[in-house]
Amino acid sequence: MPETVLKIKTFGAPALRQKAKPVDEITEYHREILSKMAGLMYSSLGIGLAASQLGINQAMIVVDIGSGLYKLINPKVVKKEGQQINKEGCLSVPSICIKVKRAKKVMLVAKDENGKPLTIEAQDLLACVLQHEIDHLRGRLIVDYASLLDRLKIGRKLKELKRKFKDEELPESKTKSCQLQL
Ligand code: ZN
Repeated sequence: MPETVLKIKTFGAPALRQKAKPVDEITEYHREILSKMAGLMYSSLGIGLAASQLGINQAMIVVDIGSGLYKLINPKVVKKEGQQINKEGCLSVPSICIKVKRAKKVMLVAKDENGKPLTIEAQDLLACVLQHEIDHLRGRLIVDYASLLDRLKIGRKLKELKRKFKDEELPESKTKSCQLQL
């Protein structure tokens, strides 16, 4: 297999809007992609990354909020409880920050990179990040949560991102205004 360089796709890339396919059989390929995803997440100073963000149409995410790395295959939320609102950023939508309302606690099922079934109970920040990454697998982005006012505020930035995407120019990936990069 040729060495593939993984790059984070940004707003405007059709891959970000695709629904990820569930992984039927976990192979060396998936383990390799997951470890590359983790590397890319750390080097981009993110705390979560979904395969969809790299144009890989497979249901895989990595998350590390500072308490350990999760590499999850076919993650699915099975229970939600409560509510939290955070200002979220996204490595795929650089320089934009949106208030997103999500469940405060979630329970999810997934498989680890060796195919072992996992049940994860998470709350607060970890729950927020997991929901954000699972959204990516469904083709959903933080901009979809934007209020009318937010939409007016970010409209120009989004247009600029789309134009940059067409020009294949790499946008600045650092966001000063938003502490969560997912
Ligand atoms: Zn994101």
